[in-house]
Amino acid sequence: MQTTQSIDGKHEKSAAAFQRANKVLVGGVNSPVRAFTGVGGNPLLIAKAFDSKIVDLDGNEYIDYVGSYGPAILGHADKGVVMAIHKAILHGTSYGAPTQMESTLAERIVDAVDSIEKVRFTNSGTEAVMTAIRIARGATGRSKIVKFVGGYHGHSDALLVEAGSGATTLGVPSSKGVPEGATADTLLVNYNDTAALAELFAEYPGQIAAVLVEPVAGNMGVVPPADGFLQSLRDQCDSGGALLIFDEVMTGFRLAWGGAQQLFGIRPDITTLGKVIGGGMPVGAVGGREDVMDHLAPVGGVYQAGTLSGNPAAMSAGIATLDEIQSDADFYTRLEEISASLEAGLVKAADRAGVLDKICINRVGSMLCCFFTPGPVTDYQTAKQSNLDAFAKWFHAMLAGEIYLPPSQFEAIFVSITHTPKDVQATCAAAERAFSAAGKFFN
Ligand SMILES: *Cc1c(COP(=O)(O)O)cnc(C)c1O
Repeated sequence: MQTTQSIDGKHEKSAAAFQRANKVLVGGVNSPVRAFTGVGGNPLLIAKAFDSKIVDLDGNEYIDYVGSYGPAILGHADKGVVMAIHKAILHGTSYGAPTQMESTLAERIVDAVDSIEKVRFTNSGTEAVMTAIRIARGATGRSKIVKFVGGYHGHSDALLVEAGSGATTLGVPSSKGVPEGATADTLLVNYNDTAALAELFAEYPGQIAAVLVEPVAGNMGVVPPADGFLQSLRDQCDSGGALLIFDEVMTGFRLAWGGAQQLFGIRPDITTLGKVIGGGMPVGAVGGREDVMDHLAPVGGVYQAGTLSGNPAAMSAGIATLDEIQSDADFYTRLEEISASLEAGLVKAADRAGVLDKICINRVGSMLCCFFTPGPVTDYQTAKQSNLDAFAKWFHAMLAGEIYLPPSQFEAIFVSITHTPKDVQATCAAAERAFSAAGKFFN
């Protein structure tokens, strides 16, 4: 595929550094998407970032829409967050004993998210979801969980699962190294398909511990819930005796102060959080009603632990982030305005480039995705209709225009509060050129 970087002479230091990385790091990275395998070419190695900008080793500056894949809602190197971390770690980075900071961050979360009465912090979203499932199974005494095709909930065994062939609803492992036994209790249905979920409840009466869902899907591109979808999940869980788990690792504190559950008015039993609540440090959290959460050790019999869980650097970054959001009464209004202007600008750019009828832009708040398919994109099947060659061409043309997008059709574009109207203007100007360049790749 096209590798803009290697031919324009602007990325020599990144190319050399990536070569070095490949000798000692698997694929040169510590998380697969970063290797640019979805778009071809070498990844940029990053020297620094500030506000809405990210700078590579060669000194090229880009407007960044990766936002560390979700955490950077305040933009990069936010002063308040950096100072809070600095202040905290002067006194030590980890104690293996409780601190008041953990209560402070938990209080913020309990205040913000209606359905959460108690919290347990972890070091990642993966751990948070893993723990949520264990709590649900422990609380209900049931084994089966339902997830939606194309939903991502971290890399734990039971959730690395994809739809099997034919009509089966039983998942098969989507990664080597995951034994079939690990996914045997994971059932799959298509996102936005409430009838299929009803069939599962009928097929497995009294066996489903939980339904696990991203209230706005953000890991198959961005796919909003259809009208009534989330309410139907709530109703079906209630009548089937299952718990409803909202995986808000991406949407929590991003779509609204109270998360997607506030935006859509649905109360889950368990919520998982991550990304924004860590302010760029490694944090996850699981929270929910007290009677559900108290199944966790040391109160209950569901075991979970973590050497570095709740550590001062992570807690202080999270507290500073949430405090900064809360102190700005217009935060989510401004974030919505700038995100809406980006969407409108991209639509206009696509129209001018003559490709508007070939793409589908989905957006919920500051999460946006430009699918290279006419759409509508309502689930994983329709997301997969995207023309990945055209996307890759667009991605590299945007990069050449100094716009840094997620290097995959199936990742969300994230807007931060530091993105300016000038950033949006520059982005849309680059997008028009990039759409024109990508246009001929559509068939
Ligand atoms: C990112 C993400 C996770 C995994 O979080 P990590 O911190 O990467 O382990 C889980 N669920 C959702 C919805 C996510 O977006």
